[in-house]
Amino acid sequence: MLINRPRGTNDILPGDVERWHLIEQTAREVCRRFNVAEVRTPIFEHTELFARGVGETTDIVEKEMYTFQDRGERSLTLRPEGTASVVRSFVESKLYAQPQPTKLYYMGPMFRYERPQSGRYRQFHQFGAEVLGVNDPSIDAEVIALAMTFFTELGLTDISLEINSVGSAQSRTAYRDILREHLSPVKEQLCKDCQSRYDRNPMRILDCKNETCKELTQGAPEMLDHLSEEDRTHFQAVCSYLESFGIPFTVNPRMVRGLDYYTQTAFEFIENGSTLSGGGRYNGLVEQLGGPEMPGIGFAVGIERVMIALANQNVELPIAKGIDIFFVALGEAAQKHSVKLLHEMRRAGLIADKDYLGKSMKAQMKAADRLKARQVVILGDDELAQGVANLKDMETGEQTTVALSELIEVVQSKR
Ligand code: ATP
Ligand code: MG
Repeated sequence: MLINRPRGTNDILPGDVERWHLIEQTAREVCRRFNVAEVRTPIFEHTELFARGVGETTDIVEKEMYTFQDRGERSLTLRPEGTASVVRSFVESKLYAQPQPTKLYYMGPMFRYERPQSGRYRQFHQFGAEVLGVNDPSIDAEVIALAMTFFTELGLTDISLEINSVGSAQSRTAYRDILREHLSPVKEQLCKDCQSRYDRNPMRILDCKNETCKELTQGAPEMLDHLSEEDRTHFQAVCSYLESFGIPFTVNPRMVRGLDYYTQTAFEFIENGSTLSGGGRYNGLVEQLGGPEMPGIGFAVGIERVMIALANQNVELPIAKGIDIFFVALGEAAQKHSVKLLHEMRRAGLIADKDYLGKSMKAQMKAADRLKARQVVILGDDELAQGVANLKDMETGEQTTVALSELIEVVQSKR
């Protein structure tokens, strides 16, 4: 009986995993440049963290969480996103007592019970960054620039940035009432989801994908026209910093991110109609999770979607291929000795491999080709007795006889 991987999960196999490494390495390097440090939080947390941190009325909490009871009857949840955990850790470790800002990034698997399709999985991966403790609009622009730099470093182009301000908690409460009043005559015609959003979270009606809802909400009042003076100034400052960075963006007054905790700045990076990344400011979240009143802003990038974008745009990632040296050993004594030589080569830092099946010379040379070996050592019992080996440069085809005592040095010099 075959056991397959669970629905909505993926195996990342050799051949693919090298691209993952490069993407992860790029994320780490860009974060280093922005002086953002890594934080690693648990894969599972108390369910309460996400219920409170992400928001009870969000899709994530309402229908997407992997929640289970452990043997001690605690309700735990596989993390569906990173921000709640990072903020929990920031509060729990009292990082807020240190000089601010605190700049953190994370990377790893997230879990959501969704209907699997291209770019949507039940276990997927995110890279995200959070900056806590500073409300200055230049930080908003910096966080957006970090994400953009990550994309451009990978060689992606044609990524559009959309931004909006969803206002502070106060201006939003007033705006929600205005929006409800405007939508009340058409409430019954909205889709089922939007009817329930009407009371709990009417702003989400504005970014419903349903055509009828789109039509019914045309001309609805927009948050941008109901910002407080402070919100507006903040938003304008973020926009002008982005302009000064030369990062193009469009203001999308209808963008409402799916998470409840956002305040003021909200943004999305879109490629070919698919959202690669979303983020925003969350000035109430630290307090909501038991910390002091402290602002924060962050984003999360979906790595699988980045993979799809790279494929769409035919980006060839600079992945190192091949190995330094392959051993072709013929004869019993040479076979045996090559085991030791191989180990020494690896200790010396060379990427080295050999045949293990006692194949013919021709088959071993084929294996060297398949592995894209840059050099091949050919060692027979006679050569071994003389203390030499033949070294073949696979690019030029040139063969030289090298003393075994100098083999490693020679291979290294030709690498
Ligand atoms: P969507 O609207 O696509 O459901 P979301 O608003 O739920 O996205 P966020 O919670 O903001 O997404 O997550 C940030 C990013 O993580 C998304 O832009 C996307 O690239 C990625 N992402 C989210 N859910 C999934 C998933 N189930 N599978 C793969 N990637 C995902
Ligand atoms: Mg979603």
